[in-house]
Amino acid sequence: MPKDFNIAIVGGGLCSLSAAVALTRAGISVSVFEASLFSQEAGAGVGLGPNALRALKGLGIFDAILSRSDQSQPAPRTFRFMSAYEDHEFIFDYETNCADPGALAIYRPAFLDAIADLLDPSVVRYNHKCTSISLSETGKQVLHFADGTTHEADLVIGADGIRSISRRYVLGEHLKSPLVFPNTVAYRGLVPVEDLKRAGVRTELTGRPVCFVGEGKHIICFPIKGFTVINFVVFLSDYDKLAQSELPYPWVETTSEQELKDRCGNWGHDTTIILDLLKSTSKWSIHALDPPLQSYIRNRVVLVGDAAHSMLPHLGSGVGQGFEDVFLLVQLLTHPKSNKANLPHLLAQYDALRPPRANAVLHASWEAGKLYDSYDPTKQADSKSRLQAELVGIWEDVWTYDLTKDVDSAFENLHRLKAFQDE
Ligand SMILES: Cc1cc2nc3c(=O)[nH]c(=O)nc-3n(C[C@H](O)[C@H](O)[C@H](O)COP(=O)(O)OP(=O)(O)OC[C@H]3O[C@@H](n4cnc5c(N)ncnc54)[C@H](O)[C@@H]3O)c2cc1C
Repeated sequence: MPKDFNIAIVGGGLCSLSAAVALTRAGISVSVFEASLFSQEAGAGVGLGPNALRALKGLGIFDAILSRSDQSQPAPRTFRFMSAYEDHEFIFDYETNCADPGALAIYRPAFLDAIADLLDPSVVRYNHKCTSISLSETGKQVLHFADGTTHEADLVIGADGIRSISRRYVLGEHLKSPLVFPNTVAYRGLVPVEDLKRAGVRTELTGRPVCFVGEGKHIICFPIKGFTVINFVVFLSDYDKLAQSELPYPWVETTSEQELKDRCGNWGHDTTIILDLLKSTSKWSIHALDPPLQSYIRNRVVLVGDAAHSMLPHLGSGVGQGFEDVFLLVQLLTHPKSNKANLPHLLAQYDALRPPRANAVLHASWEAGKLYDSYDPTKQADSKSRLQAELVGIWEDVWTYDLTKDVDSAFENLHRLKAFQDE
C-alpha cells in the first residue's frame, strides 16, 4: 500500500543515496536535495567493515556496490601494524573473532556511481543548497534553499555530512554545533604500485591494509583500483594543543609536497619513499563532534551519517555507522503499518537505539587514533608491548554488532506501545 507521507533528504552523499534507493524501492516518495552542481566525491578510497556490509546487504544494495569494487568478494581487511621508523619493525597483526570478517575497499566515486544507477535520476536535485529548516503551521517540515525556493515534506532526513545544516535544526538554532578540530590533519594521496616498487619500497602494500605507527603520526595504506594503486592517508596530530572549535584554514586544500615532508621529519626507509612519491596530496583538517549529540531527532527531522555523528576516521567506521542508521530507519519507515500518524513513534525508536551505538563508535575512534600515535621506542622501552596489548580487540564491538536485534527491539516496543493503531 502506498505510504501517506513523503520524505525529503538533505545532502546527496553516500548515506543519502543509499537511503533513497531503499525507500523509493518500497514505493515511498523521496526527493534528495544536494548542494553541489552534480555528483562529486573526493577521489579517495573508503573502507567498509563487516557491519557496514551487513547494513548494505539489508538495504539491498550490496551486490551493486560489490560489482563496482575491485574485489570479487569481501575479504578480511584487518590491519597489520608496523613501525614508521627505520626498518619498519613488525608490531601487531590484528585478529578478529567476527564470524563474517569480510570487508571491502572501494573508490568513493565508484560507490556513488553504483548507487546512482539504482535511482531514478529525477529523485536527486542538484544545486539545491539547504540554508535552514522550519516547521509549518500544518506540521510539515520546510526546507529553505539558497536560491530562495522552499520544499515541504512530512519527514526530513538530514544526510548533509559533517557541516550539516540539519544538525543545526535538530540541536536548536540557538546552540552552536559541537564540532571540534582536534589538531589532526590528514594528507591523502594515491601512488601507483609500480612507482613504489621501482623506488624500492619493501613493505607488502597490495594485500591487507598497513598502518605505520609513530609518535603523533601514522600512515594508513590500502590498495584500490584493482590493486594497482595504493591509497595513503598520513595523519599528523598535535596532542599538546587543546581541541579547537574554530579553524584557522580551509578544511580541505591541496598542499605542496614539501609541506608534508617538512612536517613529518625523519621516518623510516619505506615511509620516507612514500612521502617522496606522494604528489598532489589533499590536506584534510579532521573534525569530530565533541561532545556527541544525545539525540538525532527533532520534530520530523532525523539525522543520519556524519550529520549525526561525525567521528575521527581511525577505525574506518564513519560511513559504516551511517549505513547502520539508514538500515534501521528504512526498516522502520517501510514497515507495512508505518504511516504519517505513527512517524513520531518510529523516530523515537530510532532515537533510543542509534545515539548510544554510534556515539560509542565515535568515542572508540578517538581512542584508536591516540593509540596509533603513541609508538616511540626511543622514549618508552615498552612502547611495542604496550601497543600490542592495547590493540587487541579494538574493532570487535564495531564489527560484531547485531543490527537485527535493534530492529526486533524497535518493533517489539512499537507493538507494546500500540503505535500501530489497528492492532
Ligand atoms: C581522511 C578520511 C578517511 C575516512 N575513511 C573512512 C573509511 O575508511 N571508512 C569509513 O566508514 N569512513 C571513513 N571516513 C568517514 C566517511 O568519509 C564519512 O563518514 C562519510 O563520508 C559520511 O557520509 P555522509 O553520507 O554522512 O556524508 P557525506 O558523504 O559527507 O555527504 C554529505 C552530502 O551533503 C551535501 N551537503 C552538505 N551540506 C548541504 C546543504 N546545506 N544542502 C544540501 N546538500 C548539502 C554535500 O555536498 C555532500 O554531498 C573517512 C573520513 C576522512 C576525512
